[in-house]
Amino acid sequence: MITEVLTAKQLKKEAPVFGQLSFDNHEQVVFCQDKDTGLKAIIGVHNTILGPALGGTRMYDYKTEWDALNDVLRLSRGMTYKAAITGLNLGGGKAVIIGDPKKIKTPELMRRFGKFVHTLGGKYYTAEDVGMETSDMDTVREVTPYVTGISESNGGAGNPSPVTAYGVYMGMKAATKFAYGSDLLSGKRILVQGIGHVGEELVRLAVEEGANVMISDISQERLEEVSANYGVKIYRGEDLYAETADIYAPCALGATINDHTIDKLKVKVIAGAANNQLANENIHGALLQKKGIVYAPDFLINAGGIINVYAEIEGYGRDQIMAKTENIYDTTLDILNKAKATNITTNEAALSIAEDRIVARKKEV
Ligand code: NAD
Repeated sequence: MITEVLTAKQLKKEAPVFGQLSFDNHEQVVFCQDKDTGLKAIIGVHNTILGPALGGTRMYDYKTEWDALNDVLRLSRGMTYKAAITGLNLGGGKAVIIGDPKKIKTPELMRRFGKFVHTLGGKYYTAEDVGMETSDMDTVREVTPYVTGISESNGGAGNPSPVTAYGVYMGMKAATKFAYGSDLLSGKRILVQGIGHVGEELVRLAVEEGANVMISDISQERLEEVSANYGVKIYRGEDLYAETADIYAPCALGATINDHTIDKLKVKVIAGAANNQLANENIHGALLQKKGIVYAPDFLINAGGIINVYAEIEGYGRDQIMAKTENIYDTTLDILNKAKATNITTNEAALSIAEDRIVARKKEV
């Protein structure tokens, strides 16, 4: 399974498209461009066996178009497994818009993007991701019903991030129980990398439980704000990955567990919100296992957001959203125990359960 960008040397001539990057049996990849608004987007539909593909739209100033394509391929695949392991009748999809949201995001661009989503006729539902706000989803809703994460005043389930944070918190507690014998975060030293929509709420929950939280972000303004709000320390060192702590919570972007960081890690637990934390899930998952670091699979513990937006399609309410999200605790513990019992990585254990569900559904239809 290919999960990293391959070097030009490795690209096989006989498979110039589907054999490259992170293509992994993706059903459909749609390139969208509109000169007037400056829109350049890619929609990745990975798998629709369990239901329509659902996944957020990420707007990011990618260095190259290859990076954007690779990201959407990896993210959409992750959504398939996230929905499957969470027991939702959804497939996996994701979209990326290329560009700095602060510079090029306009209502016109979002509407144009929404029209492209609409052309897929409900095969793909979009939602919020990095670089997006609930108000952007409201704009998309003007041109297509195939969008979730719209504001409560417009009949949606609202911002999914606090629910995502709650699920990550549940997964973190389960991993802490597995590693330390108790799920109490009180006194645990937690490094939260990225204090955006999800990270900040995770900081709040951890502090409320008495954890000793340290925060890191590329935005000095955010650091000062969150530090003042919750009385947490700002990480001022040279290398966050080498810091001594109990728990590392990656809540910024993916692939932070990679060849350059893995040897330095001193934490006992990794549990965070970022998607695709392992740069290469086979290599880095196995290395974490070897180092005795308990890794709570990202696509399992950050599913609160998708549970929240799924409520808009299925029409269930807040109580059910929170109950399903709380269930992440039990699922995480089950998976960590299964991985230990069968001597596989926690990522493999989670993937195999998700895959079993997809295969079973495929046989039914
Ligand atoms: P966000 O954009 O609100 O926050 C990201 C934060 O990370 C920002 O404060 C940013 O300044 C910071 N950041 C970026 N690069 C960094 C770096 N190199 N080092 C430290 N900080 C850095 O995003 P979010 O909604 O909080 O999501 C965070 C992560 O969780 C993303 O990977 C996202 O895909 C994932 N996720 C989010 C949700 C959700 O409901 N929002 C659901 C599932 C997964």
